[in-house]
Amino acid sequence: MAGEDKKQQPFDSKAASSLVAELRGAFASGTTRSYQWRESQLRGLLRMTDEHEQDIVAALRSDLGKPELESVLYEAAMLRNSCKFALKELQRWMMPEKVKTSLTTFPSSAEIVSEPLGVVLIISAWNYPYLLSLDPVVGAIAAGNAVVLKPSEIAPATSALLAKLLGEYMDSSSIRVVEGAVPETTALLEQKWDKIFYTGNGRVGRIVMAAAAKHLTPVVLELGGKSPVVVDSGINLQIACRRIIVGKWGNNNGQACIASDYIITTKDLNELETFYGKNPLESKDLSRIVNSDHFTRLTKLLDEDKVSKKVVYGGERDPTKLQIAPTILLDVPRDSLIMNEEIFGPLLPILTVDKLEESFDIINSGAKPLAAYIFTNDKKLKEHFVNNVSAGGLVVNDTTVHLAVHALPFGGVGESGIGAYHGKFSFDAFSHKKAVVYRSFMGDAAIRYPPYTNGKLRL
Ligand code: NAD
Repeated sequence: MAGEDKKQQPFDSKAASSLVAELRGAFASGTTRSYQWRESQLRGLLRMTDEHEQDIVAALRSDLGKPELESVLYEAAMLRNSCKFALKELQRWMMPEKVKTSLTTFPSSAEIVSEPLGVVLIISAWNYPYLLSLDPVVGAIAAGNAVVLKPSEIAPATSALLAKLLGEYMDSSSIRVVEGAVPETTALLEQKWDKIFYTGNGRVGRIVMAAAAKHLTPVVLELGGKSPVVVDSGINLQIACRRIIVGKWGNNNGQACIASDYIITTKDLNELETFYGKNPLESKDLSRIVNSDHFTRLTKLLDEDKVSKKVVYGGERDPTKLQIAPTILLDVPRDSLIMNEEIFGPLLPILTVDKLEESFDIINSGAKPLAAYIFTNDKKLKEHFVNNVSAGGLVVNDTTVHLAVHALPFGGVGESGIGAYHGKFSFDAFSHKKAVVYRSFMGDAAIRYPPYTNGKLRL
């Protein structure tokens, strides 16, 4: 738990149970339901991010060697935008939505009332540890819930910062941070929650879903996958390359859920040297690999016999700095490890095909990815891509930018996830849509009531 006595009191099942009981009490008091509470908590998050931007940058540098610009733009600023958008829209989101009624209920009126679910658990991942921890919290508090956040232990500096800051800036009777790894998360997962929102890999996603099933708790699973990029000919290749590079290596050195995982094309790439120099291991603009386990995982993908000889650019690594250079591989065999696991790092295989249409079969033959991208000027190809490629989200002529559009849901499909969030979708993810019908004592049709006579049947 956040606090000084963390070491003396391990966070076990008993501690988890009393934490949930405490938050249930807070939720039952009704405090979190009011507009004022929701607004004040969102403002608290905003102020916390403004006042501690440099602490956030320092924590992300310590956890990931993340360049300051990436931390400011992709973590602090994005969180701020989420808070501001929620603050702007909150009153509208909270308003009941009037809907049409049917002849059967005439005369009546009906509306959908968004009510908070109760006490929710948010389990987060290490790659964007500030944003990915707090972005779901924005939705949870906007919707009026009590929240427990469990940040990732793999980003310990950010986890500690979140525990400290949320304790200072948020209402700790209803919003809490539990730090820890598998034992602490397991203790939390044994409890009954009203929603579990999990970001991370699919293996743990299955553990989360199984735990949730015991209590019939609904889940949002924000998972990953192999996000492909299809590159057509006859395009502005330089712009395409820059957008692919920044969406891959400029997003946490490839450690991003929507980073391009592999390219399918009939051409090759350039531009990397302009961005990261002749010696990319020395570049200040690249994050390092998060830890030695992930470094080993990535070098194993790279060093598989049939893969290592396919490196056409990069391949250098420095285990002491946990750095791997941006690496491009050409025509790696489809049965290699690298083509069958999410890469989640700076390696980018390119597959070449005779006709670009083949790419759709390649993509659709694997698990549905979290994102898919295409670079083309061909209208028919775009249409074909949008209509036939199933992925959490698609972008035409860029990569990763769909993340920044509040009006779009962000989430996976199939093995890349369940449910979605961002903007109003975050509010909805943490609300129950309650169906309410209002009737008066007028228009009481006798036909509904027994005795069910033949005469009534013929009416
Ligand atoms: P991680 O290792 O930080 O794990 C995520 C969370 O699961 C952590 O809080 C961790 O404590 C918990 N956890 C780990 N093992 C557990 C267990 N056995 N039981 C219970 N809880 C456990 O993060 P990760 O999984 O390495 O994250 C990378 C993956 O997440 C990639 O697949 C990536 O694509 C995906 N991801 C998805 C999104 C998205 O928004 N869809 C965002 C970021 C990452």
